[in-house]
Amino acid sequence: MPALPATDHLRTWVEINLGALVRNLAFVRKRIGPGVGILAVVKANAYGHGVANVVKALAHDTEVFGVANITEAAEVGAAGTGRAVMLLSPCLPAERETAVRCGYIVTVSTAAEVLCYLRHGSLSVNFKIDTGMGRAGCGPEMALEELRLILEMDGVSLHSISTHLPSADEDDIFTCEQLHAFETLLADWRRLLCGTKFHVLNSAGILTFPSHSLDLVRPGLILYGVSPLPEYSTEIEPVLTWKSRVILLRDLPTGASVSYGRSFIAKNPIRTALVAVGYADGFPRQVSGRGACVLVRGVRCPLLGRVTMDQIVVDVSRVPDAALGDEATLIGSDGSAKIDISELAHQADTIPWEILTGIGRRVEHFQT
Ligand SMILES: *Cc1c(COP(=O)(O)O)cnc(C)c1O
Repeated sequence: MPALPATDHLRTWVEINLGALVRNLAFVRKRIGPGVGILAVVKANAYGHGVANVVKALAHDTEVFGVANITEAAEVGAAGTGRAVMLLSPCLPAERETAVRCGYIVTVSTAAEVLCYLRHGSLSVNFKIDTGMGRAGCGPEMALEELRLILEMDGVSLHSISTHLPSADEDDIFTCEQLHAFETLLADWRRLLCGTKFHVLNSAGILTFPSHSLDLVRPGLILYGVSPLPEYSTEIEPVLTWKSRVILLRDLPTGASVSYGRSFIAKNPIRTALVAVGYADGFPRQVSGRGACVLVRGVRCPLLGRVTMDQIVVDVSRVPDAALGDEATLIGSDGSAKIDISELAHQADTIPWEILTGIGRRVEHFQT
């Protein structure tokens, strides 16, 4: 990821603030205290931030990097930090050989799954228990039996035992029950298995239940400076700023309609700016007609009509000196004005994770 050059030729780009990333990691460290490992989640190209630079910036206080699949694991490996890599999702049968050969820690839900991997050589596993996510993992009633079978196998090193929280940002009671269930079920094993790491907490869990950090925590979103809980958003710094540029200015008369479906009709004469970003870049079409804004010269300029594939139209009537080539900030700050990713996600009826990972291929990356 190159450092930011003159950007006047760029139509849409993101600026990645690696200093903020490192400070967010320090925030996690402060919250969990010393003696707990950090498994930094860098799946989906580090939540759209560019995995190579993110991994290098986080390596100094990261024990393991978490990814979704072997392609992402190879990208982390190529960054050359020498840190362990965990595959958080199950592998396809055709991916298992590579996973074993490359020494990735694989996440398994059963002992039978471990046997399949063992055909390709010895390996490290993260045994996952399902305490309420209902996705991967072994049901708690079978977990101890499966665990015993895994521990009897030659060639298997049990790196960790984990579970995942589905509602740590919205349901404290359920989350508490889950934490309790996991810790009670495994209390004896935690004493017996000294080398094995126990881990549960994602970003929301780290914010709400830091005393349950156990041996390892798995932050994703908070490393990128976005809080799943609004009350913590001032304690971390957004890493990503998303910008585009004004490619045309026009004056439209009263009664003019804007964009597909003519969902916006001008009630007064307005000055419009065409901005070079669309849903093909990941700017969510769902925000159309929902009060979304972009910043031009530090002023919030409302989106008019529907988002199209390559362009959006915004109202710059309140920016008399708006000029061709001006920056338009889609996510981030300009002067004292700010557009928060949570605001955009809310308007799109989605979550910040989806906006970040949806930023498209035409959007160039630069570090600041
Ligand atoms: C993605 C993921 C995380 C990180 O979640 P955030 O909410 O972004 O912190 C943690 N654990 C697992 C198993 C995941 O798949």
